[in-house]
Amino acid sequence: MGQLVLDRIVDELSSIDEQSAGGRQDAAELRPWARDFTKSGEPIETLLDYLFDECIPRSFTTPGPGYLAYIPGGGLYPAALADFIASATNRYTGVRAAAPLLADLEAQAMEWIREWMLFPNSARGLFTSGGSSAAFTAIVTAREKLLGTRLREGVLYLSDQIHHSLGKSARMAGILPDRQRKIPSTSSHQLDTAALEAAIEADLEAGLVPFFVASSAGTVNTGAVDEIPAVQRIAKKHGLWHHVDGAYGGFFHACPELRPLLRGLPDVDSLTLDPHKGLFLPYGTGALLVRDGTDLEHAHSEGAGYLPELSRDAFDAHQYGPELSKPNRGLAVWLCMKLYGEERLRAAILEKRTLALAAHERLAKHESLRFNGPPALSLFPFWLSWPGATQADEDRATRQLVADVNSRGRVMISGAQLADRYVARICVLCFRTDRSRLESGLADIESAATSIAQESHPPKDGG
Ligand SMILES: *Cc1c(COP(=O)(O)O)cnc(C)c1O
Repeated sequence: MGQLVLDRIVDELSSIDEQSAGGRQDAAELRPWARDFTKSGEPIETLLDYLFDECIPRSFTTPGPGYLAYIPGGGLYPAALADFIASATNRYTGVRAAAPLLADLEAQAMEWIREWMLFPNSARGLFTSGGSSAAFTAIVTAREKLLGTRLREGVLYLSDQIHHSLGKSARMAGILPDRQRKIPSTSSHQLDTAALEAAIEADLEAGLVPFFVASSAGTVNTGAVDEIPAVQRIAKKHGLWHHVDGAYGGFFHACPELRPLLRGLPDVDSLTLDPHKGLFLPYGTGALLVRDGTDLEHAHSEGAGYLPELSRDAFDAHQYGPELSKPNRGLAVWLCMKLYGEERLRAAILEKRTLALAAHERLAKHESLRFNGPPALSLFPFWLSWPGATQADEDRATRQLVADVNSRGRVMISGAQLADRYVARICVLCFRTDRSRLESGLADIESAATSIAQESHPPKDGG
């Protein structure tokens, strides 16, 4: 069975460059065969045929070089091998005593990430299912430390550009919408720090307890990086926990030459990272780093009579996070970091930014495309405009642009609704995206932009 699966995967991955970036779009529903829970089972070949011939092709080609939509990552193949080893050998890594060296590998991978982020030795972290659950654990940890039983008095501050998982996590952590303040962002889509300070002061005045603020190290909509040091000053002045959402942008801090772009990141209380984005792993691995590991421990530590004795001098994940039995997520992180080495991983991360800068520079020459400026990291928004275009014209044309480019199949881009306009956006983060694929995608964007602008704004006679 293993050999059959491997054969299908090799075929699939070796054709990834030829696949349409958006995947097959023909409508389909689950075949009656797939709903049928048979009495005595079926051969693996039939199951693999259905998966590889019908299900997998009808999905965005997220691992492909043309995937520039949302936040890519790619999915390093050796990480799948690590997951295969972890699942096939099925050792128990929820409690360290049951598999000490495997648990220590996971802790070691987190140590390397901690060093990249320049967090102190006191920091501890968890590998999570993704950025959303990392944010949830950060909020719970801050809530336990700063609010205790005063749950209803606590107030949390999020910019209107922060990822929606923060508000959702806050609600799940008992911080209800009436205790969540949405702070406006500036014209550069960064959290407005003056508005933040004013909101905190108003809540203090009202007898509430401001306790948590989140900044973005790269927003999903526009890639903006908040002014982390300014938010940090306000947070420390008023005793708030400062969390940074680095699910998209955090791994750019691995590159020393890019650290100035994320100034202040090593000073904050907690940080979300998504190895399944910026470290190119397959979906299912996020991470949370907490500056003072004892905060994480205080929020989660519990004993039970039946569990083996805790190893106090080594990291035991279930004492620091919500899970007990869990996949050994850190094995894939450890294996990929060990396999490729620091220099190659950094070079791959740096290359994504270099490609995004070049893409912006080329598109900026197009007469009908408009920009906020070059990408802060490797993501930038843009929109169509022409003389005399109204906001509604521009929004409609920009939606059309996204659809036209995607229908060509060489790249897939996505859009975002901002407060004042609809934007198309490019995010370069898949490790398979190279210069030649990017250039063919840019050519598609340029030609679609030219024809949409011409149709919308036909040149006058002789013009
Ligand atoms: C992806 C993302 C998240 C959510 O992370 P998941 O891994 O999808 O749960 C949060 N914030 C940002 C900036 C992201 O890019």
